[in-house]
Amino acid sequence: MFSFLNRSEKTFRHGIHPHDYKEMTRNIPIERMPFTDEVILPLSQHLGNPSRPVVKKGDKVYRGQLIAEPVGFVSTGLHASMTGTVVAIEPRHHPSGRMVESIVIKKDPYSPQTLFHEHKTDWENLSPQDLLEVIKRGGFVGLGGAAFPTHVKLTVPEGKRVRFLMVNAVECEPYLTSDHRLMLENPEAIFIGIRIVQKILNSEKTYIGVETNKPDAIELLRERVPADLNCEVVPLATKYPQGAEKMLIEAVLHKEVPSGKLPIDVHTVVNNVGTIAGIGEIFQYGKPLIERIVTITGPGINRPTNLMVPIGTKLSDVIEYCGGLKENTRQILFGGPMMGAPQLDLEVPIMKGTSGILTLTEEEVQIRPEYPCIRCLRCVDACPVYLNPSRLGQLAKMRLYEEMLDFHIMDCVECGSCSYVCPSNIPLVQRFRVAKGLLREKMAKQKKAG
Ligand code: SF4
Ligand code: SF4
Repeated sequence: MFSFLNRSEKTFRHGIHPHDYKEMTRNIPIERMPFTDEVILPLSQHLGNPSRPVVKKGDKVYRGQLIAEPVGFVSTGLHASMTGTVVAIEPRHHPSGRMVESIVIKKDPYSPQTLFHEHKTDWENLSPQDLLEVIKRGGFVGLGGAAFPTHVKLTVPEGKRVRFLMVNAVECEPYLTSDHRLMLENPEAIFIGIRIVQKILNSEKTYIGVETNKPDAIELLRERVPADLNCEVVPLATKYPQGAEKMLIEAVLHKEVPSGKLPIDVHTVVNNVGTIAGIGEIFQYGKPLIERIVTITGPGINRPTNLMVPIGTKLSDVIEYCGGLKENTRQILFGGPMMGAPQLDLEVPIMKGTSGILTLTEEEVQIRPEYPCIRCLRCVDACPVYLNPSRLGQLAKMRLYEEMLDFHIMDCVECGSCSYVCPSNIPLVQRFRVAKGLLREKMAKQKKAG
């Protein structure tokens, strides 16, 4: 259903209104994916240093056991997502297209797959530092897709103060419904997670931002907010890319995060709702990040659904469990249609950051010819961070990457809104991703050279 903007609803400026296609899975309860024969667990599933294995080939490992430890501050732990035997530690295909060192576990067919160490942690008596350590070793990353280590995000730099915790339950990417189902089916874990994170941040108030295309989730969360928790559920207009941190802060708090600054500079920390619920669960049951909710959807899959999938399960196994692909399926993305990453290999594993598997058919992936820019400025009206994508697109086409810096290319959140509205089918965001990658590389080299 096309969503028109209700002027009384909170939101950010600019942005777009793509059809949300969430009707395919929004009413389907989360089901549990059965354990498959093998899981592949890449050591690099997060931004930062890859984890270091603490097991070797031939070791028996248990579901929830630490199998790789964090290396340095920007890194996380990795855990066995099922009980079995380590059969290999070797490079395997990764959703990024690279080969990445991975721990491969073959299932113990006789194991009941209970948790390695199921226990409740008395979090109220732990210091913020100890809570952060549990989260770090628990392997938590942002589950919205960016996979930034959660303990790093929750570490408040000296001299900074956090007033607000912003729970990102926007799920603005079309097709995806995993956060929506989580809110309906496990609100208690979300509220426990909020209490723990509030304690770490010493924050005053929590906001949960939810778009109005999830009215049942808004209602349920409002009903269940514990009376003693300073937490407000904020309905937001349905608009893309409201899930981008800076857009969410603008929508809820009407504050702008300045160019080059972070949410913490406006006293706010943003966390995905799935991450918050996962934090709740590690303290409730001792369950580290070993599984996640994934929406399997799109016109190319026979049985769209919301699945709780053990991390490391192969894409091919998930597809098979969901009834296989339709004959005219042409593309599979990890994530949604706006920011998702195309997959070329069905043997890649589901990662910590895989929020959805989107299957598209011939109809949706038709390549349209590119025409010259007609200066219509629709891209300028759509850009949520007030860039001039038309000008940036021209510079990118001429490979004048350095000049793009003068037009603030590094502020681009790669949301794809400009490409979406462009009547000339100019692949703007694709060019911006290439330009930003090259510029980052260059800056890193310059920094290294001193
Ligand atoms: S320029 Fe970047 S931030 Fe602006 S609309 Fe395009 S992709 Fe989004
Ligand atoms: S939307 Fe496309 S055609 Fe219109 S100004 Fe932007 S780049 Fe040019």
